[in-house]
Amino acid sequence: MDSMSAPGHSLFPELMKNKQNIPGFRSIRNRILFFSILVTMIPSLGMGWFWYDLSHKATTEKVEKNLVNAAEIAERETNLWFKERNYDLRVFANSFVVLDNLKQYLAANEDKIPNEATSSSSSYLRVISTYLTLIRNQFTNYQRLLVLDSEGQILAASDTSDKNRPVALPENWKSQIDKSPFFTGEAYFIEGEPSPMIVVGVPVFLEQSSTQLGFFVMEVRLQGLLPHLKAALSGMTTGTVILLNREGRSLLSTASPENHTETTSTSVQGVDLFSNPHHLHDFIDDRNVRVVGLATAFTDLPMGLLITENYDSVFAGLMQARDQIVLITFFLTILIGSTATLIASQIIIPLKSLTNGVLRVADGDLDVSVAIHRNDELGIVTGMFNQMVCRLKENQVALEQLATTDPLTGLANRKQIMADLATNFANYRRYRSEFSILMIDIDYFKSINDTHGHLAGDSVLIQLARILKDSLRIVDSAGRYGGEEFFVILGKTDIHEGLQTAERIRQAVDQHIFTWKELSLHITISVGLTGVTEEDKDGISMIGRADNALYAAKEAGRNRIFLASDNASISSHVDQDEPE
Ligand code: GH3
Ligand code: MG
Ligand code: MG
Repeated sequence: MDSMSAPGHSLFPELMKNKQNIPGFRSIRNRILFFSILVTMIPSLGMGWFWYDLSHKATTEKVEKNLVNAAEIAERETNLWFKERNYDLRVFANSFVVLDNLKQYLAANEDKIPNEATSSSSSYLRVISTYLTLIRNQFTNYQRLLVLDSEGQILAASDTSDKNRPVALPENWKSQIDKSPFFTGEAYFIEGEPSPMIVVGVPVFLEQSSTQLGFFVMEVRLQGLLPHLKAALSGMTTGTVILLNREGRSLLSTASPENHTETTSTSVQGVDLFSNPHHLHDFIDDRNVRVVGLATAFTDLPMGLLITENYDSVFAGLMQARDQIVLITFFLTILIGSTATLIASQIIIPLKSLTNGVLRVADGDLDVSVAIHRNDELGIVTGMFNQMVCRLKENQVALEQLATTDPLTGLANRKQIMADLATNFANYRRYRSEFSILMIDIDYFKSINDTHGHLAGDSVLIQLARILKDSLRIVDSAGRYGGEEFFVILGKTDIHEGLQTAERIRQAVDQHIFTWKELSLHITISVGLTGVTEEDKDGISMIGRADNALYAAKEAGRNRIFLASDNASISSHVDQDEPE
């Protein structure tokens, strides 16, 4: 057999070399999967992000607008509340009781050393104190009402347990009066009082004159502001208004109306609220809640306002929608990813069997047929591949035939018969399987050519080949060795059996009537016979012996068989009758 057709011999060595590197089509599947995930996620997340950004901006703008609105209301309400306190102060300060008694007291104490007031002068102040107590009892938000002298010393106070507690006057209280009709101090806390306090005061003037008698001061609970601050939050569900001092510390909050102890939380402090008033900030408030808020400072009061709204409740809808988008994108990705994997598998599985087929063909195996399950492009390619393999196989069979057969006689050619000889010799070496060979030459063949022409000679060669084929068994092989020389290998045959077969062939030829057109021809052959021996190194030495035997047969008169039993000499021969 020719090496070209042997299975296991690769037709495409490069392809076979890379066989290990073919990544089981995982790369195609992964590429399709990766692409589908990309195609799903990029638009979904891109659109989602775009929508989220837009909605977040719109929501922020709306919240900012609401908070600015609330801040304006709260500011207005606070100013109004302080104006009312100012009005009250002026009414009280201008009351006859205060003016008259203060005037009398000052007149009585004129030119006197301080702290040496007579009992009659202090009775004026008692009247004032009684008056102050009376008013204070009517207004719950007033902690203390006081009348001070021009230096800020308490002359008269409403009658409470803390009536002698020093008054927290601001440092610049006198200069404040020059610019504004009243002065205000910083807010502060006193013991036992949940509400922050603030001092507000007005000067007391003599009727229709600019003579200043002293000051009318009230210590007022800022808690009174709470209902007004709450009014600013109408329409907001989680809004909080916080009153801050100048440092930004919380004094009063609508979120915890009962307890207003000044807070020192740094989280709100960390946000520079007043540097950018009316600008929305996002921060963690005193109660550790994330809020959005903005601050505003009063121009006339030593305070500011902080309006906040709960971040989560403001952006709750947005967050929910965002989570839904992420969830939908996630499920879409899984759905499209699975579909892509399914589609990829539908391509990859037939492609895999096709590739296995290709690899088998590349490996030299032409008995391949890939099953076709589909009508699509892959099915067409598979069908075409099967047809190509079929053609390849037909061509290979024809080529093998051409390469191994003698075209005239159909017997094995010289190359093939030599290969068969080598095979037989190898079997002999391995299995001790004996065999014999015959070298056959037609007697006086040249004269047939010369007498009847080459075509007649060819016809004789064909007919002789037929006789050889008919005389041989499956284990034997016959080939055309040269022009009209034939070579026969008799498998599993010793020299004696070989002799019988050779004789049978010789007789068959001798008795056969060869025909050419209307002619009948008689032909004989001479045969050189030998068997394999221990001394043989290969088949060539046997050919030499057989050739010698054939030569001897010719010499001896033709139409006979000569036997060469060893290399040395032709030991015996069979003589036949001479042809007529
Ligand atoms: P001998 O008995 O000694 O063998 O005599 P012979 O005439 O057969 O002599 P030889 O073997 O030398 O002659 C071989 C002849 O065979 C010569 C050549 O013309 C003829 N021949 C060789 N090949 C072919 C072939 O394919 N066709 C035909 N027609 N003749 C061939
Ligand atoms: Mg010859
Ligand atoms: Mg001859």
